[in-house]
Amino acid sequence: MKRPQASTRPADGVALRATGLSKRFKTGRTFIEVLKDVDFDARHGDLTMVMGPSGSGKSTLVAALSGLLRPDAGAVTALGQELWTLPSGKIDRFRLDYCGFIFQGFNLFPALTAVQQVTTVLKYKGLDPEEAKKKAIISLNEVGLASRLNQRPSELSGGEKQRVAIARALAKDPQLLFADEPTSALDGENGQIVIQLLQRAAKQHGAAVICVTHDPRLEAYADRVIHIEDGRILDDRRRTPETKSTVDHGATFIGA
Ligand code: ADP
Ligand code: MG
Repeated sequence: MKRPQASTRPADGVALRATGLSKRFKTGRTFIEVLKDVDFDARHGDLTMVMGPSGSGKSTLVAALSGLLRPDAGAVTALGQELWTLPSGKIDRFRLDYCGFIFQGFNLFPALTAVQQVTTVLKYKGLDPEEAKKKAIISLNEVGLASRLNQRPSELSGGEKQRVAIARALAKDPQLLFADEPTSALDGENGQIVIQLLQRAAKQHGAAVICVTHDPRLEAYADRVIHIEDGRILDDRRRTPETKSTVDHGATFIGA
């Protein structure tokens, strides 16, 4: 498989592009259409926020974009790879190598300390234990958890747990970072810390950060805000002045 490098990033900066994504689920005797012909793209260095009410298809979209859930129709090109044409083992490998995930429920291992949560993933990726530990500590420092290295999830606050999850995702230096409602279980202050860390992942690591949320308070931190409702993209706008004119999907430009 091609190994995408930062140096081979496309000139337009697009890290991920999806076209014509559709997904439906069977519920009883009927089908519910959750994604309806969705076109989507995300760029390196951007915090792209996908906002929409509960049930609008956000989690399904993230799953289809990240190789977790096969769409019924459409294509996803991620870092130059057409994801859904790869065999499933290669898709798993792609996720491991290039994607970071942050979820509402933190998804930490109860028995492991903060350092161990991060090193486990790095060792799985092939780093030797010493190197993994060094990287894990750097990553935990970066999210402000230098004094919590040996704490287990039960000894950490919600905000701290989410920062461990972010450290775990960032330690891999992923080019694609997916966050699904990362602040929903947190109070305002901790939510702000988390979103600023995601912003930093985009700015300092050049990751394409895709954050889905129904929390309107997060909108202010985004470079780009995409609204989804009932499985369709309603509008797509840039918030940064220099690229304000970039509008995709032929959608309504509201302005920042
Ligand atoms: P959001 O993340 O925006 O809240 P989801 O993508 O989780 O929305 O779900 C969109 C719709 O699809 C919801 O109505 C949900 O009940 C339905 N749905 C999601 N996953 C499944 C599934 N595996 N089987 C049946 N219905 C599903
Ligand atoms: Mg969801």
